[in-house]
Amino acid sequence: MADTLTTSQRSALMSRVRGMDTTPELILRSAIHRAGFRYGLHRKDLPGRPDLVFASRRKVIFVHGCFWHGHEGCNQGRIPQSNRKYWRQKLATNRERDSRTIKALRELGWQPHVVWGCELRTFERRLHTISATIQFLNSENDAS
Ligand SMILES: [Zn+2]
Repeated sequence: MADTLTTSQRSALMSRVRGMDTTPELILRSAIHRAGFRYGLHRKDLPGRPDLVFASRRKVIFVHGCFWHGHEGCNQGRIPQSNRKYWRQKLATNRERDSRTIKALRELGWQPHVVWGCELRTFERRLHTISATIQFLNSENDAS
């Protein structure tokens, strides 16, 4: 087949593909999909618009960026040196919102699971996180 892309088109495409493949959410999504699980995405009718929704299991997964969701004890979740007061307040607000979301989902009979971006960063951590996620999906729903 003829090469129909120019060099710049090709490099734009490659960088887009690379960029997409490296987002934590897509890494997890494709692994879960390959393991045979089917899911909906970002359902607006559920608290917090969960990233992955497994309706028949009544389970949802959030893939949280460590910084914006204030991952405690994680160096990606560290507060920047400047405007510390602003960031501390902002990230605390985000954390509170996340915990309210988790509570609201449980009250509706959904079982939530949070995967942090840093848990998908290296190959070893990714293997561990993906197998833990599959275990979560296969387990009994203890919220319903
Ligand atoms: Zn983290």
